[in-house]
Amino acid sequence: MGAEKTADQGIVERPVTTVGAKGKRGDGALRLREWSNEERMTRALKRLGICWLLAVPLLFVPPHIILGASVFALGPILAFLASRESARVQEQKIACPDCGAEVPVDEQPASWPLAARCRQCLDIFSIERAKPT
Ligand SMILES: [Zn+2]
Repeated sequence: MGAEKTADQGIVERPVTTVGAKGKRGDGALRLREWSNEERMTRALKRLGICWLLAVPLLFVPPHIILGASVFALGPILAFLASRESARVQEQKIACPDCGAEVPVDEQPASWPLAARCRQCLDIFSIERAKPT
């Protein structure tokens, strides 16, 4: 906690394999924001803290108990989700395995395999983590 981290901290490039609809494979790399166990815990506790801090003043706002209790209950849920997220794909481009066109990849949780759609050949391909051999 304390000082804000710079945006590119914790961002690593990982090799990936792209697999086209017709089984054509390609190599690439994706930038991921990865969190260490300690960072995940900090993120989780931050979310819990924010929700619980918000829950207290909400108890004085109609409909009192329901709103406060909902935000209070939301805290552990958001904290749990944050503690489970170990990496997030950054917005970037990757080459289509079929035609080689650059395909934009949105920022999203790194739940493998990812799917992307090429605008040029309209192929939907999957992006898998390259297996270490
Ligand atoms: Zn393509």
